[in-house]
Amino acid sequence: MTNTIVAKFGGSSLASSEQFRKVKEIVDAKPERRYIVPSAPGKRNGKDFKITDLLYLCHAHVESGIAFDDVFKLIADRYISITQELDIDLDIQVHLEKVKSDLMDGASKDYAASRGEYLNGIVLAKFLGYEFVDAADLIIFGENGCYDPLKTQSNIQEKLKNIPNAVIPGFYGATEEGEILTFTRSGSDVTGSIIAAGVKAKLYENWTDVSGFLMADPRIVENVQTIEKITYKELRELSYMGASVLHEEAIFPVRDLGIPINIKNTNCPEHPGTLIVDDSYENTSHGKITGIAGRKDFSVISIEKALMNLELGFCRKILSILEMYGVSFESMPSGIDSMCFVIADSQLKNKKEKIVEEIKRQCNPDSIEVYPNMAVIATVGKGMAQSPGIASTIFRALAEAHINIRMINQGSSEMNILTGVETDDFEKAVNAIYRAFNE
Ligand code: ASP
Repeated sequence: MTNTIVAKFGGSSLASSEQFRKVKEIVDAKPERRYIVPSAPGKRNGKDFKITDLLYLCHAHVESGIAFDDVFKLIADRYISITQELDIDLDIQVHLEKVKSDLMDGASKDYAASRGEYLNGIVLAKFLGYEFVDAADLIIFGENGCYDPLKTQSNIQEKLKNIPNAVIPGFYGATEEGEILTFTRSGSDVTGSIIAAGVKAKLYENWTDVSGFLMADPRIVENVQTIEKITYKELRELSYMGASVLHEEAIFPVRDLGIPINIKNTNCPEHPGTLIVDDSYENTSHGKITGIAGRKDFSVISIEKALMNLELGFCRKILSILEMYGVSFESMPSGIDSMCFVIADSQLKNKKEKIVEEIKRQCNPDSIEVYPNMAVIATVGKGMAQSPGIASTIFRALAEAHINIRMINQGSSEMNILTGVETDDFEKAVNAIYRAFNE
């Protein structure tokens, strides 16, 4: 490991000149912050636009043969005001004109979207006095459209070896032929993680507009505490909750090297935020939980058949049917003669009847029912392993709040207890569980 810190700044952290100033102060405060990954400028207020959304819009206009000057002007104005207000010695117009003419010439959708980060990278590099290194020269996408970790890692090591400080735009890379491709939305988080792994950083800082992960959704639970430390695995178990703060794929590149991720708030840099650490981290909070996450809109397909446990291949047939219909399931609690599949309604959509018919045809069950309106709550914590009383605390809390539990599931890793409740009871249930562990 080196002493380097890779710092990624999200769209809201770079939405205006005022935000750029905060970023410079943060970067200047620690010389170890050597590689900086910016997103495109985000919203300055509730009514504002994200530059990436406007770029997608420009591309859609070109595709439909509609003039996009007005939309492009919104993009150009943002970069011009940032460079002017920061008094940066940079002719941003030249870069804006090139992007505009590429769009007019029919540039691809990914290329269009990537220009938000590209332009912001040029501006930020100039403002920080760092070198600009194009992500297209570092992050390689293979023929299958996925990024190629091996080629990318050796590329990063080779190209950044002699560059002590650089700004590398997030969100995109290129194929070996030079075609620009992007990650999925919010993909600058992934870029930051890849760069951190490539330079063997001691820390990957992800600067955003919240001070880390909260133990539960603040729209549901009042005065909710921040999670100080969480392991990569716990975070995966809480991915219902984490996804909006950190891109789901961002943990994988750094996880393999045990590089911690620190979620920090650009608007409150003194707050320690949340540290995402290696799975081997010994949790000292034995008997406590790390967080609660949940989601509504699940259905349960419940299947019963006498002597199911002895029928070879019964489960495989059902799984093949789900696979055939492109449906993934969330959880699969089972009994001796019964089995159920908890599936997000968004997955089932209009396939429900067809799946039920196919299961009837292939598996001949005694009964099969689909029960809608279930919410699933994940209560997660490494500290619950080998610690008696966690499940009883959850169940007592729900019973005392007069909430019926429709489903229970605990993985053998003893890190996550899933409970299914009626959709209408969801908020009440999350509050009851949170209070039971925090009061
Ligand atoms: N600008 C891109 C988006 O809005 C990527 C990112 O912000 O990470 O999705």
